[in-house]
Amino acid sequence: MGNFSDVSKILIGWYEIHQRVLPWRNTDDPYKIWISEVILQQTRVVQGLDYYKRFIGRFPDIDALAAADEQEVLKYWQGLGYYSRARNLHEAARYLKQLHGGKFPADYKTIRSLKGVGDYTAAAIVSFAYNMPYPVVDGNVLRFLSRLFAIDDPIDLPKGKAFFTALAGDIMDELRPGLFNQAIMEFGALQCTPSSPACGQCPFLSVCLAYATDKVSDYPVKIKKLQVGNRYLYYFHIHYQDYVYLKKREGKGIWQNLYEFPMIESEFAMTFEELIRHKNFRELFPSADISKFKLVIQDKKHTLTHLTLYADFFEVTINEESESLLKVRKIRQNAVDEFPTHRLMQLYWETITKKT
Ligand code: SF4
Repeated sequence: MGNFSDVSKILIGWYEIHQRVLPWRNTDDPYKIWISEVILQQTRVVQGLDYYKRFIGRFPDIDALAAADEQEVLKYWQGLGYYSRARNLHEAARYLKQLHGGKFPADYKTIRSLKGVGDYTAAAIVSFAYNMPYPVVDGNVLRFLSRLFAIDDPIDLPKGKAFFTALAGDIMDELRPGLFNQAIMEFGALQCTPSSPACGQCPFLSVCLAYATDKVSDYPVKIKKLQVGNRYLYYFHIHYQDYVYLKKREGKGIWQNLYEFPMIESEFAMTFEELIRHKNFRELFPSADISKFKLVIQDKKHTLTHLTLYADFFEVTINEESESLLKVRKIRQNAVDEFPTHRLMQLYWETITKKT
């Protein structure tokens, strides 16, 4: 393979032989392409086919869809799930009827702004209907490209997505963008499949980097798979006289510069018995009466990109401050609202203020 244009030629050549015959492929009507793409957003081709035919049979154009009752539109969608797709189609059709005289727009920006239309769907419509050079980047495309070039950028992060979109744009056959887009998606769907790609009969076999390094199943890389796992946070809402304690999160980690109660972080879930034996606990509460700890919130789950957090919140009143607490900022309880806090702290705060 000499360069990117070879990739494009091979894909189109493969597509001309192997493509499935699908009704939305024989048309350049943007309305029909739009409907088919929205159906296929969360539905497999085999299941979507009948729905597409029935939907187009009843609502053949923007005028028909815009004039219909929402209830009827939903009826035609029944069984497909994700009903907001049908509602968005209907709303967008009414918008196009009112503001564009029922004519489907012919520019990417306007199409992208329609309800329920994201980057992928907009690129599919303009490339299939108007042959505009916008790369479509769906799961099939991401999988194929990440394997062919052994790209480690996670596909589920915006940066990774942007990288793959640019790469697909570089490879794209500029004269035949619509055909190229169909070809690359179909290739991922039929040949370079998720669990059993047909590498033995693949036209890219001799140049595929994932295949050469025996790492086909490692691609595409997803950040979710890279998750370091769970973290367990044990927060202490400590009352001392009229005060409570808040600590600012330092460093580059999550919630940088936000305030929170003193806490103990662990890679493992701890029972209360384990918690009180923890070194940091003993430093925070060297002489505390254990029976005074009240568990206010348990196992509050908070999901971040890399990590799932589970937080427990304890409330306790102490009679004397430990050395460790002397290093923490002490503020009046009614001043807590003045400090920026993170989501978990806010949830806790909402819980206790509701109770009081
Ligand atoms: S050789 Fe296998 S992994 Fe590589 S592009 Fe072909 S089907 Fe996909």
